[in-house]
Amino acid sequence: MSLTVKINAEFCAGSGQCVAAAPRGFKLDANDLAIVLEPAGSLPRDALIRIAKACPTLAISLFDGDEEIDPFVGDEYSD
Ligand code: SF4
Repeated sequence: MSLTVKINAEFCAGSGQCVAAAPRGFKLDANDLAIVLEPAGSLPRDALIRIAKACPTLAISLFDGDEEIDPFVGDEYSD
């Protein structure tokens, strides 16, 4: 099932990591804030989790239906 991806614009620092990692799913707007492009939700779940974890301000939220996913849960033994 595809995930819903949201950016909290209040926290986005415009670093562009999400855009570099998945240009089909993210872009920067005229104010250098990330916005989610429609195909983002169809990116592989593990890729989205990696991108959310790599966001320096944790501005990317992932939802599986109504439930928000914590990208760091279950991560104790991975990088
Ligand atoms: S990685 Fe995070 S801070 Fe950087 S542009 Fe994307 S949402 Fe914004």
